[in-house]
Amino acid sequence: MSIRRTPRGTTALDRLRERYTDAERVCSSCGYDDVDGEWSAKTTGSDVFYRHICPSCGAIETRTLSLK
Ligand SMILES: [Zn+2]
Repeated sequence: MSIRRTPRGTTALDRLRERYTDAERVCSSCGYDDVDGEWSAKTTGSDVFYRHICPSCGAIETRTLSLK
């Protein structure tokens, strides 16, 4: 039988961060697609805070995810 395993060293935070980096780089204010940008992420342990600053217009996008 086969068991899908999560690769060692890959945390839930890493996966979430990758997903944000891939999916939501387009600025909601000006529409700029920040292809080289990425979300910065920090966690308090129970929540993850993401932030992305648009290099075109300076708009700050934030997201908060609960890890619970
Ligand atoms: Zn923008």
